[in-house]
Amino acid sequence: MTDPVLRTENLRKAFGGLTATDDVSIEVERGTITGMIGPNGAGKSTLFNLVSGFYEPDSGRVFVNETDVTDREPHEVTDAGLVRTFQTPKKLEGMTVREAMLVGPQHQLGESVVPLFTSPSAVRDEERENLERAHELLERFEIDHLARQPATDISGGQLKLVELARAMLAGPDLLLLDEPVAGVNPTLANKLKAIIEELNEDGISFLVIEHDMGFIMDLADPIVVLNQGAVLMEGTPEEVQSDERVIEAYLGG
Ligand code: ADP
Ligand code: MG
Repeated sequence: MTDPVLRTENLRKAFGGLTATDDVSIEVERGTITGMIGPNGAGKSTLFNLVSGFYEPDSGRVFVNETDVTDREPHEVTDAGLVRTFQTPKKLEGMTVREAMLVGPQHQLGESVVPLFTSPSAVRDEERENLERAHELLERFEIDHLARQPATDISGGQLKLVELARAMLAGPDLLLLDEPVAGVNPTLANKLKAIIEELNEDGISFLVIEHDMGFIMDLADPIVVLNQGAVLMEGTPEEVQSDERVIEAYLGG
């Protein structure tokens, strides 16, 4: 018996003549860290955009916690339990890390955000609780010392941790991470891996796109392989790594 936290039925999306997502039906089983790999242009980010409400599919359906969220707005998908991070982190000019934490996850503003407030006095009452939770998360991820720094002044790796922390503020059942360790040094990558595993033990499910094969094979099970917009195969890390079709897709790509 399956208990999918995310399920897609025959999702399709074309851009002009290019089919970026071609009849994709996948399930992310609750409690798993599911990996998603595939050559550049395979359609991984497009699939994330489709299931998180940023793109409208041409056809097919998306279910989060078995609620049909097809054609819903991103914030409605968040309410259903799915939160995502972006391959290119949001622009955080003019904000401290703490402020960035508070404008981000609840609203899923996309790759650019407008500062909603610039001083603590402008923080509304209902946001005080979020402020506390934001600090707890920053502490948990050991980046609380960065809270008052301009968000543009922190390293790429630290920004990934902030992204994860702000996504957690929305209280997700499923977190979608798009290349969380791209451009991150090995020490921080290990820290991210440990945090993801800890959150998973707390009950959060994950769907993680990652090009770093060592990282994803070590972290995720099962792993879904996309190629040319379609699911090529799904299996354990061992099955994926030894599959001729996967090897060919990467070599032929
Ligand atoms: P991946 O994340 O696997 O590298 P993407 O999902 O980003 O792949 O892209 C899949 C294909 O769809 C690529 O050929 C890309 O150029 C195209 N594509 C993605 N988004 C858009 C868009 N907004 N407009 C036009 N083409 C797009
Ligand atoms: Mg991508």
